[in-house]
Amino acid sequence: MKKQIVSTLLLGLTVAAMNAASFPEVTIDGVAGFQDTPLEPDGKWHVHDPARPQPPIVTPGASFSENAAPPSDAIVLFDGKDLSQWVDKKTGGAVGWTVADGVATSAKGDIITTNKFGDIQLHLEFCEPTPPKGDGQGRGNSGVFFMGLYEIQVLDCYNNKTYADGATGGLYGQHPALANACRPPGNWETYDMIFTAPRFDADGKVLSPAYVTVTLNGVVVQNHQAFRGPTNWRTVGKYHPHAAELPLALQYHNNSVSFRNIWVRSVPFVNEP
Ligand code: MG
Repeated sequence: MKKQIVSTLLLGLTVAAMNAASFPEVTIDGVAGFQDTPLEPDGKWHVHDPARPQPPIVTPGASFSENAAPPSDAIVLFDGKDLSQWVDKKTGGAVGWTVADGVATSAKGDIITTNKFGDIQLHLEFCEPTPPKGDGQGRGNSGVFFMGLYEIQVLDCYNNKTYADGATGGLYGQHPALANACRPPGNWETYDMIFTAPRFDADGKVLSPAYVTVTLNGVVVQNHQAFRGPTNWRTVGKYHPHAAELPLALQYHNNSVSFRNIWVRSVPFVNEP
């Protein structure tokens, strides 16, 4: 018993010390990131490598889906009134996010849907805080976590460089966006995504990975891109078998991002060759 307490304390100290000192950031061309992380399976870049090329900047035009009404079969997750479709991820109780003037703003912790989903079409709109504060990942940071595991990054990447696999539209820590189509903070931005859940066989082997297609402000930033597994900070994703349907999550990352008009269509996708 005592031994367990001591080793738990030591582990706590070790983690705290490691967080403070053992993860040296490297800055290359104004991009802060890491090169002491594992290499991605393609062997070219470290996870969060500041040398990885930045997505080219594309100035978006009008977005067809901004403020648009959901389709008839959509499950509305936030229509500006309340977050009754969501609970706090840690406690399962009431969310710590605020709702005012038709807008939900992240605070206190991640939130997850009360519904569980597999394959979905997702629409949401987000707005980054203005004036912007902080740099890199320290700007308005959130994330769309499909099944609570697979993140598409939400970050203020307008005039804000960060490691490419952590920029808006990226599969966090895995695959950068094809373009940086961010609007300036203070403007509403649209995300339209198609997510295909991974399939596992009875032994837990991956039959097909999770895939995602993403448009940001009407610009394609991911096209049927596979996840290498759940997304994480500083580690390479690795699949582990899980349920066919799990809650969708939105991240709170110590700085607030606002959201509106969130809906999904929950329809299993079937492809034929
Ligand atoms: Mg994030």
